[in-house]
Amino acid sequence: ADIERLCVHESVENVVPTEAFVEAFDDLDVPAELVGDGEGYAESDAVVSFRPRPEFLDAGWVHCARAGYDEFDTDAYEAAGVPLTNSSGIHGETVGELAVNYMLSFARLLHVYRDHQHDADWYDPDYERPFTVGGERLCVVGLGTLGRGIAERADALGMEVVGVRRSDESVPGVSRIYDPEDLHEAIADARFVAIAVPHTPATEGMFGAPEFRRMRDDAYLLNVARGPIVNEDALVDALDAGDIAGAGLDVFETEPLPEDSPLWDFEEVIISPHKGSATNRYHLDIADLVSENVGRYLAGEDLRNRVA
Ligand code: NAD
Repeated sequence: ADIERLCVHESVENVVPTEAFVEAFDDLDVPAELVGDGEGYAESDAVVSFRPRPEFLDAGWVHCARAGYDEFDTDAYEAAGVPLTNSSGIHGETVGELAVNYMLSFARLLHVYRDHQHDADWYDPDYERPFTVGGERLCVVGLGTLGRGIAERADALGMEVVGVRRSDESVPGVSRIYDPEDLHEAIADARFVAIAVPHTPATEGMFGAPEFRRMRDDAYLLNVARGPIVNEDALVDALDAGDIAGAGLDVFETEPLPEDSPLWDFEEVIISPHKGSATNRYHLDIADLVSENVGRYLAGEDLRNRVA
């Protein structure tokens, strides 16, 4: 198979500076060019995009510039015989650090002090409130790139890490693996529960009222995966009722999170604007992945991260 153009769809601007991203392909033998909507595609085109477009099905190969490819219709790609690849495998460090950041804040109260800093307030929290993450139990739901990145870092902080995974094969830093069917048992004793599964029919609404009731009332939910995995209304109710203590959230049912969402107002909710994977070299990380696959595609080898 041949590639004559590497088409970078303008929607990548959601996550990378487009110009620098296109330049990152300068060393490839295939020319990279920025394309907008209204472009037509041929089998000799490879496409890199953040968002799906129906016309991509005319291309030879499509790469989703995100790990979560839930917006792409994998059945349509399979039916059309167009390989679809994603950007999984590069977010263990970035999202892992974000998850650890939430946990350390909840334990050491940085988010609270920062809130009071806005009023030059030398704040004195209740004696009972600060704690250390060391020795606390973290349950990581999903042990792929993100889950492992979180687990390894939590383990290094002296936390007791357990996980939920469909196979019981051991994972570094994780002391016990639960089957997804035993989710309630896995989360019951955890001080922190981190969600690191993709958004699929099986994971949509995986966390709702029954799960929050099952969690400890001093537990924190961390969602760095996808918004619809958590029933947001149920989360707000659980926070109001004190069924759980707080949440660190990077992803939401609707993004940007609407201004009138009650989630903005909880002191024990830390909101980051879906920036878990953001770094100043993200364009290079994605370009490396795509460039490797261009080489594989031209050599007729299996593509890395093929999801359809
Ligand atoms: P990955 O494919 O490496 O890992 C996902 C893991 O979840 C796999 O091991 C898979 O077997 C497991 N899994 C799937 N369904 C499951 C279920 N029902 N129960 C238990 N385990 C299940 O993907 P990743 O790179 O770790 O990313 C995971 C998700 O996180 C992505 O799909 C994406 O939606 C999201 N994500 C968010 C950000 C961010 O910026 N916040 C960044 C990267 C990824």
